[in-house]
Amino acid sequence: MALLEVKDLQVYYGVIRALKGISFHVDQGEIVSLIGANGAGKTTTMQSIMRLIPIKSGCVVYDGNEINKIPGHKLVGMGMSQVPEGRRVFQELTVYENLLLGAYTQKDKKKIKEDIDEICTRFPRLGERKSQIAGTLSGGEQQMLAMGRALMSKPRILLLDEPSMGLSPLFVGEIFKIIEEVSKAGTTVLLVEQNAKKALSIADRGYVLETGKIVKTGKAADLLNDDSIKKAYLGE
Ligand code: ATP
Repeated sequence: MALLEVKDLQVYYGVIRALKGISFHVDQGEIVSLIGANGAGKTTTMQSIMRLIPIKSGCVVYDGNEINKIPGHKLVGMGMSQVPEGRRVFQELTVYENLLLGAYTQKDKKKIKEDIDEICTRFPRLGERKSQIAGTLSGGEQQMLAMGRALMSKPRILLLDEPSMGLSPLFVGEIFKIIEEVSKAGTTVLLVEQNAKKALSIADRGYVLETGKIVKTGKAADLLNDDSIKKAYLGE
């Protein structure tokens, strides 16, 4: 069953049509990758799902309910959590304080502490750096913190916008391993990536976005073997 469904979504920036009626779905338990070049509309898609930018037409259905009219801040409480492009952790706060902010839907202090401990077990680098100021973490560590913070709300679906951006190959590998672990632990994942090869290698299915339109979809393994995708996105 689809946990998230995007139907014929159109988004404009002024007169520019950034999304030209895109439709896709993410089933419960899947990792779905949305791949595409710079400017294809990946971030716009994520932001319109999370209600951070207005939708011109079409709709987003989450867990059977149209969420077009629900304010963005309520979506976290409903089980949706996003890690935005560029990580955006609170630079002046410590790792611990950043994680604490991810728990704003949880009121039970003991539970919050347990959840932080769980995140620090999953991300030992964060555990070792609980009192470090987030702005002094490396790019990869900040990405981990952004993911850890998003996971604090125990989302049913995690939306990740370019988690590999600007990271060294070692960290990219680590981040993708964590995404797979999060998925295995039961969280559904929508993964937006320019690193098509990595994204498709962990995904169940994929969609290819080109200038605001979905031009191809299929099982991730089939997309990895598709000649036109290999040429355009996989550098083969
Ligand atoms: P990238 O990988 O470079 O982040 P993307 O696939 O995420 O690209 P978007 O950021 O969604 O692409 O951009 C889609 C299109 O919308 C681009 O042509 C971009 O220039 C345009 N766009 C994005 N944000 C705005 C904005 N605030 N105002 C005007 N145009 C915008």
